[in-house]
Amino acid sequence: MNRLVRAAVLAGLGLPALAPSCGPERARPNVLVITIDTLRADHLGCYGYPRPTSPSIDAFARGAVLFENASSASSWTLPSLTSLWTSLWCRTHGCTDVEKRLDPSFESWAETLRDAGWDTALVGGHLFLEPGYGLTQGFTHVDAEIVQTDSTISSQEVTDRGLEFLGHKAAARDGTPWLLWLHYFDPHDAYLAHEGISEAFGTERKIDLYDGEIAYTDRHVGLLLDGLERLGLARDTVVVLTADHGEEFGEHGNHGHGYTLYQEVVRVPLLVRAPGLAPRRVDELVRSVDVLPTVLALAGVEPRRAIEGSSLLPLVAGGGPDDRAAVSEVSWHATQDMRALQLGGFKYVDHRLGGGTLDLLFDLARDPYEVCNDAAQDPLLVQALRGELDARLRAAELRAGEYGTSRSSATSPEEQERLKGLGYVGDDR
Ligand SMILES: [Zn+2]
Repeated sequence: MNRLVRAAVLAGLGLPALAPSCGPERARPNVLVITIDTLRADHLGCYGYPRPTSPSIDAFARGAVLFENASSASSWTLPSLTSLWTSLWCRTHGCTDVEKRLDPSFESWAETLRDAGWDTALVGGHLFLEPGYGLTQGFTHVDAEIVQTDSTISSQEVTDRGLEFLGHKAAARDGTPWLLWLHYFDPHDAYLAHEGISEAFGTERKIDLYDGEIAYTDRHVGLLLDGLERLGLARDTVVVLTADHGEEFGEHGNHGHGYTLYQEVVRVPLLVRAPGLAPRRVDELVRSVDVLPTVLALAGVEPRRAIEGSSLLPLVAGGGPDDRAAVSEVSWHATQDMRALQLGGFKYVDHRLGGGTLDLLFDLARDPYEVCNDAAQDPLLVQALRGELDARLRAAELRAGEYGTSRSSATSPEEQERLKGLGYVGDDR
């Protein structure tokens, strides 16, 4: 199959068009978005991980559509979440370093839903979700009181505040739909131990502590989803669960995130549960920029600005072959400028670091862990994929011209300290 797709890529042929949108009919559902920072897809049971890190998410997955191959637009929080909420590539929205603020001319789907009558709320356990960064655009209620540092544990608080909002909504029963975004942070480093949970995974190695952090977060996501059920809201609510990026544990010589675009940092979980959507697993490549059009389609609301993703509902309905290509970029360290394209089962990375450039080519179906760089063996495919990537980035730059520029804004000394504590400044790689 891959050989055929490769031939199509080289010949510049398009794959069959998407089927028309065919989502279930449901008037104005509520929308609950759960993002979990630094959560690799392959460390969840529902994605095949053998350790019991995620019993709650696995139970949720059994009633949801699970996307096996979801790719994030970047490998760190700010650009990746901005792409999720605007359905635009990083090159288009321009929030590519810690001081960049999304220009108000961009539209997040919180704004789209708010203006269509949804009550919108955000509980953000992350510095980038505080007012001023742009990700709060469109949220009528912003709870940014959970101040995140490298040594705080916040999942319980995120769940408690989320349940408080849901409790108000359940009591009101006024027919107003709502959008609630909860961002969990605990799997992010520093990896902390949780009594009664971490012991089962080990507390010596970082990757064991990381698994304990996932299990701790999973418990609180479970309590949230139980609350949604208990309050009688689950039946009328679209629930999206995803992550901003994953984490590296030395697979390619790095630790953390934001340094490379390997699968361990760009392959994220993506689960969608919606009224009328039958649970299933979808193998095709999908992108974080596809979440916005999918949710809006489920809500019956049209995007008001041009977007770069497209609804996943045709795929979910088994709409045949799909020609999505996933772009990922990371360029926030001084000498780093990396961009990647996934298409037709292949992944090409233009890996520029420290003045050097390196072409990486992986056949992900054969080599999902990106062990063998095939670039030297297949220069024609490298050339074709690089051309495709460059064309998409040029198109993104053109689209960026339709918006104001996301500007740099000086961070306060206090913000600098917190960014440093979270690993976002002080490393010039
Ligand atoms: Zn993050």
